[in-house]
Amino acid sequence: MDFLIPESLAPKLEAARAFLIDEVIPVEPDMLGSSDFYAVEPKLKELRSKVKSLGLWLPQGPEDVGGLGLSVLEHGLMSEVLGYSPLGHYVFGCQAPDAGNLEILHQYGSKEQKDRWLGPLAAGEIRSCFSMTEPDTPGSNPTELACAAVKDGDDFVINGRKWFTTGADGAAFAIVMAITNPDAPKHGRASQIIVPTDTPGFELVRNIPIMGHAGSGWASHAEIRYDDCRVPQKNLLGGEGAGFLIAQERLGPGRIHHCMRWLGICERAFDLMCQRAVTRKIDGDKPLASKQTIRNWIAESRAEINAARLAVLDAAWRIDRVGFARARVEISLIKFHVADVMMRVVDRAIQTHGALGVTSDTVLSFFYVHERGARIYDGPDEVHKASVARRILRAYEEKA
Ligand SMILES: Cc1cc2nc3c(=O)[nH]c(=O)nc-3n(C[C@H](O)[C@H](O)[C@H](O)COP(=O)(O)OP(=O)(O)OC[C@H]3O[C@@H](n4cnc5c(N)ncnc54)[C@H](O)[C@@H]3O)c2cc1C
Repeated sequence: MDFLIPESLAPKLEAARAFLIDEVIPVEPDMLGSSDFYAVEPKLKELRSKVKSLGLWLPQGPEDVGGLGLSVLEHGLMSEVLGYSPLGHYVFGCQAPDAGNLEILHQYGSKEQKDRWLGPLAAGEIRSCFSMTEPDTPGSNPTELACAAVKDGDDFVINGRKWFTTGADGAAFAIVMAITNPDAPKHGRASQIIVPTDTPGFELVRNIPIMGHAGSGWASHAEIRYDDCRVPQKNLLGGEGAGFLIAQERLGPGRIHHCMRWLGICERAFDLMCQRAVTRKIDGDKPLASKQTIRNWIAESRAEINAARLAVLDAAWRIDRVGFARARVEISLIKFHVADVMMRVVDRAIQTHGALGVTSDTVLSFFYVHERGARIYDGPDEVHKASVARRILRAYEEKA
C-alpha cells in the first residue's frame, strides 16, 4: 500500500489549507450561534468565486463538468483538509448532498436531465437535496419505504412524507426515492425521480430543529410532504426499480469522504484542545497542559486519529483498486469507527475548554450538535457493525 500524496495533489491540498485558514475560518462566527446559512451565504458566494479562480473548485467532480476529477483516495485527502471548517466543503463546491447527487446525475442522467440540472449544479448556481428517509418507516431498512410514485399518463404522481431531507430549503430540485414497482423483489421496488421543488404538491413543512437549531438553507434538514406531486416520467433516473442500486453506488465513495471530513473535524478539535491546554493557566503559572489527565487525552486522541486515518486511507485505496463491492467490510468498519473517534475527540476538546467549550464562541459546540448525526446517517452504527460481523463470520462458518 502506498499512501504517498501524489505530486500533482500536494500543492492543491496546501493551497486549500491556506485558503481555509485565511479566508473561510474568519467567516465561521457569522453562522456558529444560529446555524443561519442565509446570514453567511453572500460571503460564501464571494469565497466560491475565489476558489474557482484558484483552480480548486469541485475537487471530486469529473473534469467534463469542470471538476478536478480526483480519485476516491485523493478526494478523501482533500475532504480531510476541508473538514477543518464546517464551511469548507460548501466553499469548494463538494458539500453533501450535492456532491452525491452530482455523481448520480453524471452517471445516470439523460442528456436532457444533465443539461437542465447537472451543469448548474456543478457550477454551484443551484443546490439540490436527496429525499429518502421517512418519519413513519425505518430509515435503517429503506426497503420498507412507503412513499409511492404511481404512473398516470406520461407522469408519475408522488405521495408520501419524508424528513431529514438535508438542504431542501432553497434547493432547486430533489432526488426522491419512491416505490414505483410494489410487486417487485424488495430491492427492486424503489426508483429515484427528479422533482423540481417548485412543482405543485412539493411542500416543505418545516426545517426540523436539531438540538434546538432549525438552521436554514444548505444548513438545514427539512420535513417534506409530497401531495399528488406530478412530474414527467422522463424525470426517472437510471431506470425503474434501480433506486437501491444507485443509492449503494452513491454511498460507497460518500462514506470515505464523510470519514475524511470527520478526521478534519478531529484535527480542528485536537488543535483547539492543545492550544487551550498550553494557554489556560489553571494553577498559578501552571497551564492546563501540566495536568496528567489532559496529557492523556492529547496522547489518546492523537493515537485514535492516526489509527482511524490509516483505516480510512486503506478503505479508499481498496475502492480505487478492487472496487466498492470488494471493500464492503472496510467501508462499514470506518463508518462507525471514525464517527465514534470524532465524537470522543470533540468531547475531550469541549471538556478541556470548560464552560467556553459549550458556548458558540468556538466551533466545538457546533461540531457537537451537528455531527452527532454521524453515528446515525448513511447507516446507523449498529447496522454497520452487524454487517461487518456477518461478512467476517461467513468465512468461518464455511470452514466450520
Ligand atoms: C444530520 C442528518 C442528516 C440526514 N440527511 C439525510 C438526507 O439528506 N436524506 C435522507 O433521505 N435522509 C437523511 N438522514 C436520515 C438518515 O439517513 C436516517 O436517520 C438513518 O438512515 C436512520 O434511519 P431512522 O432515523 O429512521 O432510524 P431507525 O431506522 O428508526 O433506527 C433507529 C435506531 O435503531 C437502531 N437500529 C436500526 N437498525 C438496527 C439493526 N439492524 N440492529 C440493531 N440496531 C438497529 C439504531 O441505533 C438506529 O439509530 C439524515 C439524518 C441525519 C441525522
